[in-house]
Amino acid sequence: MNIKERTFVLALLLAIMPGVALAESTIMEELGSKAAKAAMDQLKFEKGDENILTLTNAGYAVVDGQTTQAALKGLTAETGCSIGDGNLFQVLRPYWKPVWFFVFNKTSGEAIYMEADGSALKTSLDEFKAKPVDKVFSKISKANIDMDYLENHTDEGNVTFNQKAFNGNEFSLVSIANVWARGGSFDFIQDTCFHDHLCPGVTSGLFLAKYVEERLPINNITAESYKVIACPNWCKDDLLQMRWDATPGKSGMFVMALTDAEKKAVPNIAGIYIRWNDTSKSGDALALGFNFSAQKLPQWKGPAWGSKIYQDIVLMDYVDKPEAFISTIKEFKVDAAKLAMLQNAGMHPLKVAGVL
Ligand SMILES: [Zn+2]
Repeated sequence: MNIKERTFVLALLLAIMPGVALAESTIMEELGSKAAKAAMDQLKFEKGDENILTLTNAGYAVVDGQTTQAALKGLTAETGCSIGDGNLFQVLRPYWKPVWFFVFNKTSGEAIYMEADGSALKTSLDEFKAKPVDKVFSKISKANIDMDYLENHTDEGNVTFNQKAFNGNEFSLVSIANVWARGGSFDFIQDTCFHDHLCPGVTSGLFLAKYVEERLPINNITAESYKVIACPNWCKDDLLQMRWDATPGKSGMFVMALTDAEKKAVPNIAGIYIRWNDTSKSGDALALGFNFSAQKLPQWKGPAWGSKIYQDIVLMDYVDKPEAFISTIKEFKVDAAKLAMLQNAGMHPLKVAGVL
């Protein structure tokens, strides 16, 4: 090859390569855009409507080795929903699950679920753009999911939940959307999206956090942090990881289960919460109890699918009154040796704490 030929080949390569990369990311963007357009058509809303909530696993899902975050770009461009506006959330799912979009209109209570057909993405951008919506999504279902509405239309709820209208994501999406619609705070909704769904268990995590923060506030933001001995573990611990950055990988949380007999021996035990000072190597600990039956709450009278979601809504009234459910079983000081004993396998943290 002479210089002229080489230059030509190089120019050709440069012309093709960025194009290939762009086309790949643009199919995902187009997917988000198609989902948005279908939702806007079905739920009848305009771009920027603050009554709209969008939930998706885009960004977590990987389709045929391709990451899916660009779908968020298409979704936001069309609907105007964004993280900044508090009406776009990514719901954690394992990467191998199909990518889906859920759009909810707070005004009507209606929602649409769309699940992408992975094989539809294996095509050129032009072909993909030309595909009709029903060839892009293997599942499209619309339902009213507002709990006030469903209370009086349980037959519709039966169809949504029992026939898996959202491919098994019904509880997850309906729970998050209903609490969002009733003013659930951004951080709480974000934490529940990490947990997968919004259940009374994750709500109890918020109450436990608030109870601890009131009694053992962080006064020194560089030296102090919270450590959780999650014994026994339940949904609460996913919220605590997010809210306090108390992750197991950084020794912020140690997770241990209890036998039924141990649970009975320490009624309502909800773990040990430590405010640790990493400079003085000392901390304050609370062994806490959480009693879900401490208050007489109104109960859902309809089919089983509604009871936890209804409880989620009712519990929101107690966000600033966590002591209505929580009690301090024991308060004690912790040094480095005691902290190590509370964390180590082979030791029983409740025995180390002296509550069992
Ligand atoms: Zn849960």
